[in-house]
Amino acid sequence: MGLVVQKYGGTSVADAERIRAVADHVARTRRTGEDVVVVVSAMGKTTDDLLRLASDVSAVQPGRELDMLLTAGERISMALLCMALAELGVASASFTGSQAGIITDGHHTNAKILEVRGDRLREALAAGVVPVVAGFQGVSLDRDVTTLGRGGSDTTAVALAAALGATTCEIYTDVTGVFSADPRVVPEARRLRRVSFEEMLEIAATGGRVLALRSVEFARNHRVPLHVRSSFTWEPGTWVTEEVPDMEQAIVSAVTSDASEAKLTISGVPDRPGIAASLFRALADAAVNVDMIVQNTSHDGTTDISFTVPHTALKTALAIVGELAPKIDAGSVLADEDVAQVSLVGAGMKTNPGVTAKMFEALAGEQINIEMISTSPIRVSCMVRAGLAERAVRVLHQAFGLEG
Ligand code: ADP
Ligand code: ASP
Ligand code: MG
Repeated sequence: MGLVVQKYGGTSVADAERIRAVADHVARTRRTGEDVVVVVSAMGKTTDDLLRLASDVSAVQPGRELDMLLTAGERISMALLCMALAELGVASASFTGSQAGIITDGHHTNAKILEVRGDRLREALAAGVVPVVAGFQGVSLDRDVTTLGRGGSDTTAVALAAALGATTCEIYTDVTGVFSADPRVVPEARRLRRVSFEEMLEIAATGGRVLALRSVEFARNHRVPLHVRSSFTWEPGTWVTEEVPDMEQAIVSAVTSDASEAKLTISGVPDRPGIAASLFRALADAAVNVDMIVQNTSHDGTTDISFTVPHTALKTALAIVGELAPKIDAGSVLADEDVAQVSLVGAGMKTNPGVTAKMFEALAGEQINIEMISTSPIRVSCMVRAGLAERAVRVLHQAFGLEG
């Protein structure tokens, strides 16, 4: 029998009853003869509550202390789950990220995993003990506690599954799998039976938060099959795997939306070589992640450049661009926070022309104006007014016949 990693998200361990239900399921899995490593998130909205508390206490939140604070959430879940398992007669032991050997870089609040030293977990498994690991956290080479970015427990689970050679990484959550759209926005969305890593990467990158983007990258790089499923119904969910030859290649698999970015426009930019390079070099050097970029055709030797950055990086981006604009003889700089990106994702797009045209027609039919466009071989994204994003998702879901 193999090893399975089971990750339980915040709603799955939100209260005492939920924690006991999770313990039951872990015990059931053990009875089938399988080894289990459990990864838990903080209970319910604990992480949000801790962040709010930090803001109430101080406007200055050093990353090191924020990480120390936030990692407390997952500690609570892991200890309580071990108690629930003890009552069921299942031997278990809790481990912080540091104890589990999750070594990260020192980038507080968004650290990257460098290495997983899973010795203590292997010892526990060999002794017949179920390791219960706090998700979302690690320890830096300087021995400081770090966190892996929001939703990071998914990444912990996949990293452990890769390091320990698990057959599957099960992601238990509050929906029954990955859907053709967020079921909270489109109630008639269809559950996907199987999704390729490539499609899942695009879904996660464009707002489908059911899996953290980094966890999908990790799963693809280490070929860890993911099974996204519900901790409320326990029914089989969605498999995220490498593309298999007989895999049905839907033209469009999912519609997503993402309101986490803002748009910046610089007007009157001189249209000559090197200007865009100096602008985007300055942003890159400040670690600002630029997503969509649009440059208009020039009139009288000047042009407008618009691009999007995460809301969290807007202040930094504005400072950089504000300083650079006079130096390159550009005009005004405008920030627009009221935008959202709506995307279509599907592996079959590669071989089916016309998806983009149909997308634009569907949005036009609802008088939804498209402000920016970007594409990949298996994705088309449009920037629209934030207030119209949910309507756009529903319109596109219907236009492409994705309902169950
Ligand atoms: P957890 O706390 O278990 O990690 P998350 O809130 O991070 O759960 O992710 C699950 C949520 O993702 C669902 O409740 C759902 O609203 C949202 N979601 C967004 N897009 C999708 C999608 N395409 N398929 C399924 N769920 C989605
Ligand atoms: N508790 C963390 C968060 O809310 C990590 C996670 O749930 O995956 O982002
Ligand atoms: Mg999550």
